[in-house]
Amino acid sequence: MQEHNEVVCEVCRVQLNKIAQVKSLTDLELFILNQPKRVININIPMRMDNGDIRIFPSYRIQYNDARGPTKGGIRFHPEIHMNEIKELAFLMSLKCALVNVPFGGAKGGIKVDPKLLSEGELERLSRNYIREYAEFIGPKKDIPAPDVNTTPKIMGWMMDEYEKIVGYKAPGVITGKPLSIGGSKGRTYSTSLGGAIVLREFMKKKDKKLKGMGVAIHGFGNVGGNLARILFEWGMKIVAVSDSRGGVYDPKGLDVQKLLAETANGKKLQEIGVGKNISNEELVELDVDVLVPASVENIVNEKNMEKVRTKTILELANGPLSAAADDYFEKNGVIVLPDILANAGGVVVSYFEWAQNTTNLYWEEDEVNQKLENIMIKAFARTEESRIEEKSSYRKAAYIVAVKRILAAERDRGHLKPKQKINPKNH
Ligand code: GLU
Repeated sequence: MQEHNEVVCEVCRVQLNKIAQVKSLTDLELFILNQPKRVININIPMRMDNGDIRIFPSYRIQYNDARGPTKGGIRFHPEIHMNEIKELAFLMSLKCALVNVPFGGAKGGIKVDPKLLSEGELERLSRNYIREYAEFIGPKKDIPAPDVNTTPKIMGWMMDEYEKIVGYKAPGVITGKPLSIGGSKGRTYSTSLGGAIVLREFMKKKDKKLKGMGVAIHGFGNVGGNLARILFEWGMKIVAVSDSRGGVYDPKGLDVQKLLAETANGKKLQEIGVGKNISNEELVELDVDVLVPASVENIVNEKNMEKVRTKTILELANGPLSAAADDYFEKNGVIVLPDILANAGGVVVSYFEWAQNTTNLYWEEDEVNQKLENIMIKAFARTEESRIEEKSSYRKAAYIVAVKRILAAERDRGHLKPKQKINPKNH
C-alpha cells in the first residue's frame, strides 16, 4: 500500500545522511544504521465480545541490538504502519545510545483504535499480542514498554501472559508495569521529569531562569500532563495546553492543578471552564518562551512552521517536527531540544525498572529521581559538547554521539572493520 512507503520520520533520515557526509560513514556503516535488524509483522486474530473474529495487524521491529537487548514501547493506534514503527525503533536505538543505557532499540504496535474496544477486548488483544511475539521477546532479548495509548495496566496483562507461557516469573520482560508487580517508583512521570531537566540545563547554559517563563504544551496525556505539573511546581507559567479536541489558554498562567484533577476524572480540557478555548493549531503559534510538542508525530510541518513564534522547542513526543520544519528552525535560530534527548527520561527509568527486576532490589522514589537526574545532566552535557565541536544543531550533535556509540559497539563485536590506527607522530 502507498502509505507503507511514506517516511514518517524524515528528520531521522535527513540527519543520518548529513552525518554520513561529515563523518565519512562507509556504505556498510550506513547500511547498519539505515536498516532494522529484524522486522516482525503478525496479523493477530481476536474474538470480539459479540462473537465476531477480527484480525489486527501488528508489528515489532528490533532495529539495532549491538549495545544490548532491544528496548522500546508498544503503541495501539488506528493509523500505525510498518514504516512508522521502523522509524520509531530507529529513534529508540539512538535514544538508548545517547543516554548510554545498555540497550538497543525497538518499537512495536497494533493497528487498532483502543477507544473502540471493551475492557475485555483490550485485555484479550494485549495478551494475544504477547502470545504471538513471546518467542521474540524476553528480559535478555527485547523488552517492550508503554507508548501511545498503552498503560501500566496493559503492561501488567502482558507480563502476566508472558510468565504463563515461559512458566516462571520474568518481570524484566516488560517495563512501565504497575508498582505491585515490579514497576519502578517514578516511572509514570519519568519522561516528563527528564524533559524538564533538559530544559533547565539548557536555560542554565543561557543564564536564564525557568521561573516566570511561559510554556505551551501540545498534548495533555501522561507526558504532557506531568510536564505541566512539574514545570508549574518549578515556577513556570503554563499558558496553554491541549488535548485531541482542542486547548485552553490564559496568558497569566492556567490553573494546572484544576486541569489535572478534572482530566483525571475523564473531562476534556475545554469542558473544565479554565482559560479561553483555542485550537491545537493556535497553540502551536503562540508567542511563548517554550513550545512543547508532547503528542504525536509531525505536529509542526511545512504548513505551520512559519507561524511558530517561540524560540525554544522541547520535543517530548517522538518525531514531532517534519524535516522541513526542522531545517527551517535551524536556519532561523529556533533552538530544538531533540526527542532522543528531551524524552529519554522514560527509557532511563525503564532501564532502572529492568535493573530492579533483575536484582530484586527495589529503590525509593528519591533514589530513582536522583539517578535519572544524573543521567539526564550527563546526556545534555555530552550533547552540548558535541554541538560546540560540530558547530551544529542539538539534534545533529545528539545523533553524532549516538551513532558513534552504536558503531563502536558494532565494531567491537566484529561486525565492522576496526578503525585505522592513527600514528600520533604524524598528527
Ligand atoms: N515509549 C517510550 C519512548 O518512546 C519509552 C520506551 C521504554 O521505556 O522502553 O521512549
